[in-house]
Amino acid sequence: MSGNENGIAASKPGRRMIVAIDGPAGAGKSTIARHLAQYFGLLNLETGAMYRAFALKALRAEIPLDDSSALEALTHETSIQLESGEEENRVLLDGEDVSGLIRNPTVTEAASRVSVFPAVRSWMVRLQQQLAAQGGVVMEGRDIGTVVFPHAEVKIFLDAAPEVRGQRRYDQLGEKDRSSATPPEEVIRDLRARDERDRNRADSPLKPAPDAVLLDSTNMTLDEAVAAAEAIVGEKLGLPAAKA
Ligand code: C5P
Repeated sequence: MSGNENGIAASKPGRRMIVAIDGPAGAGKSTIARHLAQYFGLLNLETGAMYRAFALKALRAEIPLDDSSALEALTHETSIQLESGEEENRVLLDGEDVSGLIRNPTVTEAASRVSVFPAVRSWMVRLQQQLAAQGGVVMEGRDIGTVVFPHAEVKIFLDAAPEVRGQRRYDQLGEKDRSSATPPEEVIRDLRARDERDRNRADSPLKPAPDAVLLDSTNMTLDEAVAAAEAIVGEKLGLPAAKA
């Protein structure tokens, strides 16, 4: 991307800014991260896609998803690359573009399960730190402000009530997916199960960093949540408040 929407150079001398966005599934992280990236001229990196790609590899290799040693061994023979795009991230698993293969319920569930293991997490964290070493990124996930970039310039913890998150996820499904399956109650139940696992795992549980700004979008439209997040970053950058 050559410029950004408002001409703000989101850079400081030396390393450029890192914006960390964490929160549970369906809170609106991806939408907000994409908008912030466009608005402030940053790259948008979605770390969930990396866990999903690794889960896909484990599924293909038929490795039991609770076999930590086998999963650790698998990390040694796996390459994952993440590329920021205008809309979605592109994720390459051992050179293969798997961006379109990692969003189905089986991979979603598998990603949640493999991500509890410290060996998987420490490998991912290293990759993510390398990816964003130069800064100039919005990175979203579950542990970005707490573990991956504890010194990020801006940290936002985005949350919303489970019912609202589940309904948003359901609304995002295309007509075809909606008619073919999963009723909203089931989407909400799956989200809750993933949240529980993320919040209760011993290694890097999902929780706000002490210095994160909390943004609860339960009673907001996504547009309002985007505007609130823009204001949070703008304030950190010392910019005058944008449009009302
Ligand atoms: O964000 P997304 O739903 O794509 O992430 C898939 C799964 O990967 C999550 O359910 C979570 O368990 C895991 N994850 C993680 N840490 C991150 C990003 C994702 O544990 N930084």
